Amino acid sequence: MGIIKYKRAKNDNDEIVNIEEVSLEMRKSTRFTCISCGQELSAVLGSKNQHHFRHKTEVDCNLETYLHKMGKYAFVKTYKECLSQGKPFTITLNRKISCQKESTCTVKPFLNRWEECCDYRPETFDLTRYYDSVAEEQSIGSFVADILLTSSKGYPPTLVEIKVSHPCEEAKILSGYRIIEIGLTKEEDLDLIASCRLVDPVGNNTYMETIRQESRRKKNDEEPTVRCYNFREAPKELFDFHKIYQFGIYRNNPSRFCLNETVSCGDKEKLIDRHRRRNQLLYEILFYNENWGPGRFIFGVARAYEKGFKIKNCFLCRYHAYNENRLTPEEDKPIFCKLYKKLQTKPQCHSTQAIECSAYVPDKRAYANYLLYAGGYEEIVY
Ligand SMILES: [Zn+2]
Ligand SMILES: [Zn+2]
Repeated sequence: MGIIKYKRAKNDNDEIVNIEEVSLEMRKSTRFTCISCGQELSAVLGSKNQHHFRHKTEVDCNLETYLHKMGKYAFVKTYKECLSQGKPFTITLNRKISCQKESTCTVKPFLNRWEECCDYRPETFDLTRYYDSVAEEQSIGSFVADILLTSSKGYPPTLVEIKVSHPCEEAKILSGYRIIEIGLTKEEDLDLIASCRLVDPVGNNTYMETIRQESRRKKNDEEPTVRCYNFREAPKELFDFHKIYQFGIYRNNPSRFCLNETVSCGDKEKLIDRHRRRNQLLYEILFYNENWGPGRFIFGVARAYEKGFKIKNCFLCRYHAYNENRLTPEEDKPIFCKLYKKLQTKPQCHSTQAIECSAYVPDKRAYANYLLYAGGYEEIVY
């Protein structure tokens, strides 16, 4: 094993001490041990390096065990302090809200089998208002929770799992128990627990949703450190919003696009009526769900062209190459032009350059992939 430095250790009273709290006197009088391997540690307080605890002898100690044990300890300790001092310990997650118009929803008929008319909205809960006791390594059903939060007020328990190397077992998630999973990969991640504010940026997941979100998540996205599973949906009365994305082409210039994020499923018919009255659009696609294939914009362009609308756009052109930059939305993404040397233009241009380009040649082989949109959508020809 190489040198493993830790910032936290156990003292003689089995309490955890942070190296920042260790004084020279304390160093002399205290015997520090490692929470992971149980071996003795010395507190290194030199002026050159960052202060740390070091194993006195070479041992087979590992960071994962350290983080797992320390994570459990830190959570229980911090949570108990919050309870006794009346301080909040919060979790923020995206709660799912399903459409309340189950039988009359106008979006539903256009969705795929696996899609729903629903929305997600972030909500913050103070766990201490619901759960008044906390303990490590507790049995629940056929599982053992790293930490179990229980309630004398009758709320169903919540399992807190410290994830160091392995994600939460599938069976645990499928069991339906509420779970908060906290991922720790380095010592600094323990500060997240001490902050008393956990945030799940992805949402309240069922197991299937997690798999879907994983497949949709982009390569370079940072791994979220907190995940929630099986929290209840928000009450349906709250639902009045289903994000609908719109792609439209204009009657007076089909190569100009209109893109919007709009309305609730309940307002959809009104939106279509309004567009019919204004008579500015030629063709429109309403997208009802996120999609993990090609984007809405290039699908819209390719689909409109296939339908026979005379539009020009570089995404349709034989000489374009898709730009992988994932941060830019497709409608603004510069495309790469394979003819830039010959045309003496910049290697990248906006896809609307096609309107003025002399070399533009639409070619199905170049855009066929863009037609593979998997999400639910509706097309309207005005
Ligand atoms: Zn150790
Ligand atoms: Zn609906």
